[in-house]
Amino acid sequence: MVNKCNICPRACDVDRNGSRGFCGEGDSIRLARAAAHYWEEPCISGDNGSGAVFFSGCNLRCVFCQNREISRSGIGKAVTVEQLAHIFLRLQSEGVHNINLVTPTHFSEKIKKALLYAKSEGLVLPIVWNSSGYENTESIRELKGIVDIYMPDFKYVSADLSNRYSKAADYFEVAKKALDEMVIQRGAPVFKDGLMTEGVIVRHLALPGCVEDSKAVLRFLRRRYGNAIYISIMKQYTPPDFEMPDELGRKLYDEEYEELCEYSRKLGIIQGFTQEGECVGESFIPKFNLEGVE
Ligand code: SF4
Repeated sequence: MVNKCNICPRACDVDRNGSRGFCGEGDSIRLARAAAHYWEEPCISGDNGSGAVFFSGCNLRCVFCQNREISRSGIGKAVTVEQLAHIFLRLQSEGVHNINLVTPTHFSEKIKKALLYAKSEGLVLPIVWNSSGYENTESIRELKGIVDIYMPDFKYVSADLSNRYSKAADYFEVAKKALDEMVIQRGAPVFKDGLMTEGVIVRHLALPGCVEDSKAVLRFLRRRYGNAIYISIMKQYTPPDFEMPDELGRKLYDEEYEELCEYSRKLGIIQGFTQEGECVGESFIPKFNLEGVE
């Protein structure tokens, strides 16, 4: 597959041994950080943190990316499948609540191998698939029985927006099919001691000036999946300091976020998360300094 890569919907057809596709990554898995992370939803982070493994590169590459340091700027260190498995096991020994695979899609085949190996060596923590949502249904099917919690983004309904901000006019249709498969696999959410152990949490990052499309996302999620999923409406958008469309160069107004939260209540969404107070800032973005990788 990597010789003619079609792991994700971009279907670049490149040989990643030497060439690069849209995700910018070659054949080797690369990581920017592997450490406890305390800023996910409470049922994921708990008291001890989520064992977040941040992969370099990204197959969506949104213009407003909040993790641009790793999605585009090349930070990261190559690891083998065996080394990745041992990183999972080390995080488990440190007491984190789960293994949280952040932006894993473009390495999905090798990550699956690493997970199977780590499980054979004693990994028992829930596995969280923390993705952009832009991925092939077939790739998600390959993870059946391996991933316990799917935590994809659902960014847009509008093809105009997804094309403008992520160069993916088909985002809605692709993400819908992938999410269908995730919900079929995991069924109803399961919690133990306040922590999710199985289920699907769909995240939506509210963008400045995009309230109507955010409402369309919430409407779609509520009508199609009902109480089979949790929905996390995020207000932490931080205007990056690089060039991008002018309209994204500001924080989300409080009124925009309140309008969305009110709308979610009207839709009857009760299984979900919202953010309170001043949630804009660097604190949600960890330092990508190869911690836990070197
Ligand atoms: S994983 Fe990367 S190279 Fe492969 S199809 Fe997707 S964007 Fe292209």
